[in-house]
Amino acid sequence: MRPFDYASPGTIAETLALLADAQPGGVSGVRPLAGGTDLLTLMKADLVAPHLLVDIKRLADLDDAITEGPDGLEIGALATLAQIEADPLVGALAPALAEAASLAASPQLRNMATVGGNLLQRPRCWYFRSPRVDCWLKGGAGCPAREGENALHALFGADPCVAVHPSDLATALVALDAEVRLRGRGGERRLPVAEFFALPEDARRTETVILGDELIVSLRIPAAAPGTRSTYLKAMDRKVWAFALVGIAASLRLDGGRIAEARLVLGGVSPIPMRATEAERLLVGAESGSGVFAQAAELAMAGAVPLRDNGYKVPLAKALVRRVLLALAARPALAAD
Ligand SMILES: Cc1cc2nc3c(=O)[nH]c(=O)nc-3n(C[C@H](O)[C@H](O)[C@H](O)COP(=O)(O)OP(=O)(O)OC[C@H]3O[C@@H](n4cnc5c(N)ncnc54)[C@H](O)[C@@H]3O)c2cc1C
Ligand code: SF4
Repeated sequence: MRPFDYASPGTIAETLALLADAQPGGVSGVRPLAGGTDLLTLMKADLVAPHLLVDIKRLADLDDAITEGPDGLEIGALATLAQIEADPLVGALAPALAEAASLAASPQLRNMATVGGNLLQRPRCWYFRSPRVDCWLKGGAGCPAREGENALHALFGADPCVAVHPSDLATALVALDAEVRLRGRGGERRLPVAEFFALPEDARRTETVILGDELIVSLRIPAAAPGTRSTYLKAMDRKVWAFALVGIAASLRLDGGRIAEARLVLGGVSPIPMRATEAERLLVGAESGSGVFAQAAELAMAGAVPLRDNGYKVPLAKALVRRVLLALAARPALAAD
């Protein structure tokens, strides 16, 4: 790890002044430090080399609070995955998020890892994580994973990068129609989490649209309409402490036996969480049941382009979609009803 300076400012405004030295696209000489569980790993591998780390865990006006207000559930950027997993409000109002947090990483990591940092963690692609490989996502020319070791890589939306997004919480937050609140020196902006993530492109080789001089301040999950239920399921190659091979988050609003609203989001199959909009359209208006759930699973995977080693993800994802939808149909609606 290269030498760096450390600053511990008192407020968001002081932090933003320090971050002003940052460059767009996330490649920055100055970085916010939250739990450090991803940033420090990247620094140890010399994949990023900031000259200044700005500790944001002691800011007077950035918090980890989880509160329910008229606009829904508000979660401070510093809330840890352990807090989110255990919080009764999240469990009652946004079960998919509580379940995603409980299935992420290990208990030790969940105590350190914040939700803000979780959305901004970088891919786990082994070529990306190797200091010896200068792949496209790191500013190089090609993607060695495309023809190489790609058992854990993407089925969709993957040109030129075939990495998958590693965050379980991101998948759940998209299914919950959550919004992220960002603060920069020019003021505040709010974005749907679905728009906060964007496929990396030549001019921005990152998975999000956050600017180098912005902070995630909080997340908001809108109050769900009566009859809504949500869940998250994750396939892993071992029972704990593993990233998603495939992760599925879904939210359904049932009106009698009919599906009035549906969100179906896939993780582990694309560089950013992917909404299965065609499958959602099929579900809305249909009678809830295994027949339509099987059709939705087929539609969700239509257009998948498996690489050499990851074809197993197609039947796996279909099976998980069916399981998630069946589990939701059998589950009681949210406590808010
Ligand atoms: C072994 C291991 C297993 C894991 N397994 C999983 C898993 O199964 N599922 C999963 O979802 N995750 C998993 N993770 C990822 C882990 O959850 C993330 O590393 C963690 O959530 C990042 O949060 P942090 O607070 O430590 O962020 P940091 O490491 O401190 O920061 C990460 C990035 O976000 C930036 N940042 C942090 N907070 C803010 C903010 N508020 N505003 C602007 N920028 C900010 C930092 O500058 C940095 O670029 C795993 C990690 C490890 C090491
Ligand atoms: S999949 Fe993306 S991160 Fe992995 S080697 Fe290819 S370009 Fe790099």
